[in-house]
Amino acid sequence: MQPTIHNLIKFCQLEISHNYTNSAVIGGFENMLSVWIPDAKKQNVPLDLITKVEALFKDYDRSTHDQRVETIKNMLTILNKPESAQINSSKEQKNLNEEYLQKNQQPYEVKNSTKSISQPVKEPSQITDQVKTTEKTLSTTKISFLDPKTGLGAPLQTIPNVGPAKSKALSTIGLFTLEDLLYFFPRKYEDYSLLLPINRIEYNQKVTVIGSVKSIHTRSAKNNKIKITELILEDGTGTLRITFFNQPFLHKRLFKGAQIVVSGKTDMYLGRIAMNNPNWEKLDQKNLFTNRIVPIYKLTKNITQNWLRKIMDHTVSQWAPRVPDYFPTSLINKADLLDLSKAIYEVHNPETFELLARAQQRISFDEIFFLQLGVLQQRRNWQKATSTVFNVTTEWLEGIYQKLPYQLTNAQLRTIQDIRNDFMKGIPMSRLVQGDVGSGKTMVAAIAAAIATQNGNTQAALMAPTSILAEQHYKNLLDFFTEQDLLHSNQIRLLIGSTSNTEKEEIRQSLKDGTIKVIIGTHALLEDPIEFNNLEFVVIDEQHRFGVTQRSVLRDKGNSPHILVMTATPIPRSLALTVCGDLDISVMDEMPPGRQPVSTHIVSPLDRARVYQLIHNQLAEERQAFIVYPLVSTEEVEESDDSDQITNAAVNEHTRLQTEIFSTRTVGLLHGKMRPEEKDQIMFDFKNKKIDILVSTTVVEVGVDIPNASVMLIEGANRFGLAQLHQLRGRVGRGNHKSYCLLIPENEDAVENERLKVMQETNDGFVLAEKDLAQRGPGDFLGNRQSGYMDLRLANIMDVKLIEKAREFAQSIFEKDPDLNAEEHQEIKHILNHYWKTGTGDIS
Ligand code: ADP
Ligand code: MG
Repeated sequence: MQPTIHNLIKFCQLEISHNYTNSAVIGGFENMLSVWIPDAKKQNVPLDLITKVEALFKDYDRSTHDQRVETIKNMLTILNKPESAQINSSKEQKNLNEEYLQKNQQPYEVKNSTKSISQPVKEPSQITDQVKTTEKTLSTTKISFLDPKTGLGAPLQTIPNVGPAKSKALSTIGLFTLEDLLYFFPRKYEDYSLLLPINRIEYNQKVTVIGSVKSIHTRSAKNNKIKITELILEDGTGTLRITFFNQPFLHKRLFKGAQIVVSGKTDMYLGRIAMNNPNWEKLDQKNLFTNRIVPIYKLTKNITQNWLRKIMDHTVSQWAPRVPDYFPTSLINKADLLDLSKAIYEVHNPETFELLARAQQRISFDEIFFLQLGVLQQRRNWQKATSTVFNVTTEWLEGIYQKLPYQLTNAQLRTIQDIRNDFMKGIPMSRLVQGDVGSGKTMVAAIAAAIATQNGNTQAALMAPTSILAEQHYKNLLDFFTEQDLLHSNQIRLLIGSTSNTEKEEIRQSLKDGTIKVIIGTHALLEDPIEFNNLEFVVIDEQHRFGVTQRSVLRDKGNSPHILVMTATPIPRSLALTVCGDLDISVMDEMPPGRQPVSTHIVSPLDRARVYQLIHNQLAEERQAFIVYPLVSTEEVEESDDSDQITNAAVNEHTRLQTEIFSTRTVGLLHGKMRPEEKDQIMFDFKNKKIDILVSTTVVEVGVDIPNASVMLIEGANRFGLAQLHQLRGRVGRGNHKSYCLLIPENEDAVENERLKVMQETNDGFVLAEKDLAQRGPGDFLGNRQSGYMDLRLANIMDVKLIEKAREFAQSIFEKDPDLNAEEHQEIKHILNHYWKTGTGDIS
C-alpha cells in the first residue's frame, strides 16, 4: 500500500476515535489536501482515487457531525478498509478464511510495496501491471509439507537481515528453519489497539497516540551518565510529554514536525499525564510495535524484541499464507476450525483478541490431535509384541504380605492385582499408577518387581528422576528384597551419576551377565553402554518428569518389557484418555491409615513474622522446614533482552533468612541452576539434618521423603497451580509429627485467592486436580507430558472440550486408517512423524 493511503486510513481511524471533531490532522482534513495530493501523485495513487479523496474532504470542516460520519465511512470504503474491520463472529468460519485469502491478495494490502516510491512515475495502466506482478511474487500458492524443496525447511539465513551471527543466536532458542519461525509463537501480547486523542488519555492506561513532534531535546542527567530525551507530541487535541532514557540517537531519527505513532503505558509527571520509553514508529511505515495488539516473543542474547518482531513479521507475511492445511476440508468444517494459514498468521498478528483465541484454538487442536494419533499408534505397536508371562500363586503373594511391616491398603492390593493380571496376558503391560503423594506406590512397585524376578532369569529396572529419589528407592527395595529373602544384596544395585567409574563398570558387567536382578537408577540407566541380559520389567517413577522418548529408550534395552509408570500428579478422568491414552490406569485413592492431614493456612504477607515464629518453634522441637519461592523472570518485571537471566527470589531470600531471621540455624539453598551433584549434596544434608531450613525453588517438588520436615512455607503462593501446591505440600506430613503448610501470597489482595482457599479445604489430590482443571484449564497436566513430544506450545490456554474434540477426530481417523496410508492422509502422516521425531525428552 502506498504510504499516503496508509496514512489516510490512519487519519480516518483517528478521526473516528476523536469523535469526528476534525482534529485527527492538525489544521483539519481540508488543509491536509494541499500536501496530500502531490504526495499521492508522486506515489502513483490512481488519479480517480485522488479525485474522490479531494471531493470527499473538501467541505469537511463545514460538515455536520452526521455528514462527517458518512464521509469517513465512504472514505474508508473507497480505501478498502471498512471501519468495521473487526471480525469476531466465530460462526462465520468460512467467510473468515476466505476473507483472509482475499486480503492477502488485495493490492492495497501487498506488503513492502514502498519500493514503488523510488521508482519513476508511471501511467495508471502500468500501475495495474505492477500490482499484478507484486501479487505474483507474494503468491498464496500453497506449498507442500511433503516436498523437501518446499521452502519451509529453508535455513534462517535466507531471510533478509539474518546473517550467520543472528542465525546462530536464534538457534539457541531452537529456531533453525522458516517453519520453526512460523511456529515460534509469542509468549504474550501487549494490547496497544486503543487509539485515543491526547485529551482523552488517562493515567495508567495502555494506549496509542498519533501526532506530530512539536519539540525534541536531549540532555544529560546524573553526572552525564544518563541521557534524557524529551519530546512533546501534539495531535490537535493537546500535547503529551514523552521521555526516553539513554536513547540519544533518537534525535537523529525524530525531528520537529515528524508524524509518529506512539504506544505505551501512560504515567504521571508533575501532575500531568506523560509517557516513558514508549514504543514508537513513523506514521508512514507499517506499524509493528504500535497501534495494534503487539506480540512479545521470547528472546535470547543478541536478539532484541523489535528486531525479532521485524523478522517475524517478514516471515509470517510471506509464508503463513502459503502454509498448506494438512487437514481435509471436511474435517476443518466439521470441527469448526480456522484455516491453518490464517491461524498461524493471526497468532503472530492478532487483529482482535477474539480472532487470536480462534487461532490459538486451531493450533492447540492440532497439537492434541497429533499427540493423540501418536499415542494410539504407539499403543497398537506395543500390543503387537509378545511378552513373557509372569505367574505367581496367591499363596506366594500372601506369604510376602505377611512379612511386611504394615498392612497394604485396599488401593495397593487392587493395583497389585491389576499388575498381576497384565503380567499374565502375554502382551507387554503399559500401566500408569496414579496415587496421591504418600499413598505408597513404592511398595506396589517393589512387589511387582518381586513377582517379575521370581520368574527365571528376569531383570527389572526402576528409573527415578533424581539421584536422591533413586537412592531412597534403592534403600527401600534393598530392605524389602533382603528381608523377604528374595534376593541377595549383590543382586539389587544402584546406578546414579555419582556412582564411581569402577563401580559403574562392575554394574554394567553384572547387568550384562544377569547377576543383577533389580537395578535402580536415574537417567544413567539410559546411557549407551548399559546393556541388559534380559530386561523384562521396567518401572518409571514420577513419570511426568520423563518424556515418551526416554521411556522408549529404556524399553528398547529390553525385550518388549512390561512397563509400569507411577505418578503423584492426579490426572482428571476427562483428560487421562488423551494425556495417557497409551496407558492403562490404576488409581490409588486411599492413604495408609494413621496419617495426620497437613494443617494448611493462608497467611497474609503482613503476618509473615508469625510464620517465622512457628518455624522457630518447630525447629526447637527438632523438626525441619521447607521454604519455597516461585521463579520470577526479569522479563515479567521488565522487558529484558536476555531471557536467560532469571532473578531467583530464592537466592536473595536465602541470604536474608540466614543472616536476619534464622541466624542461629543452618539455612540451605536449592535451585534449578545448581549442578546435579550440588543439588544431591544439599538434599542429603537436609535429610541427615545438617540443614534445618531448606530454601528452594520448586525443584523439591518430586517425591523426596523427609519424614522429619514438618513445615512447608510457600511464598508467592498465588503464582502456583493447585497441582503444584499439592505436590509441595506432600513433602511434609510424611512422618508422625503434626505438619503445617503455610501459603503466603504476594500481596494482601491475593489472600482471597480461590485456589489457595481450595488448598485449605481439602487434602485430596484428586479433588484438587478437578478444581485445577476447572479453574486453570488443562495446561498443567498436558505440560507434564510435553517432554518427549513436541512442545505443547499453546496447550495451556485450551479448554477440555477442545481436547475432547481433537481426541475424537484423531480416534476416528485412526479407526479408518490406522497406518495413515490413504492418499488424503499423507500430509498428516508426515507431520505426525515430524512431531514425534523431534521430541527432545528433556527433564527439568
Ligand atoms: P508415594 O506414593 O508418594 O511414592 P511412598 O511409596 O514413598 O509414597 O510411601 C510413603 C510412606 O508410606 C513410606 O514411608 C512407606 O513406607 C509408607 N507406606 C506405604 N504403604 C503403607 C501402608 N500400607 N501402611 C503404612 N505405611 C505405608
Ligand atoms: Mg514416590
